[in-house]
Amino acid sequence: MTRMNQILYNCHTDGGQYRITKFNDGEVESTYLCTVDECECPAGVRPTCRHRHMLPRFIAKGAVNSFYFYDYDRQGWVTNDPIGQAALEQELAQRAKFEPMEKDYQLAMSEPAPTPPEPTIRRRI
Ligand SMILES: [Zn+2]
Repeated sequence: MTRMNQILYNCHTDGGQYRITKFNDGEVESTYLCTVDECECPAGVRPTCRHRHMLPRFIAKGAVNSFYFYDYDRQGWVTNDPIGQAALEQELAQRAKFEPMEKDYQLAMSEPAPTPPEPTIRRRI
């Protein structure tokens, strides 16, 4: 049986930047440091590249430092969360419900504010 290799990306914070790693069928193929407007990949000199394209999606999805992988070709999300996706959804829901009191603390801890995420589109999970 033949099939296409599955190309997936994940994203983790690395210092003040983000590290986007590309997996080709589960093997690390490349990994690049980037921000919403800079990227160290070969296309970094161009105005945009796929990393800068997907980074706002990782941020909007809350998928940074998570078990979520982005399938760039299908523009969808994949998770390998061993606890199951339900647990992650629950955690994200809780994260969205922070009391105002905790907000300052949260802001102090977070990276410089990213550009506002794109309007929410219904995505495949
Ligand atoms: Zn790039």
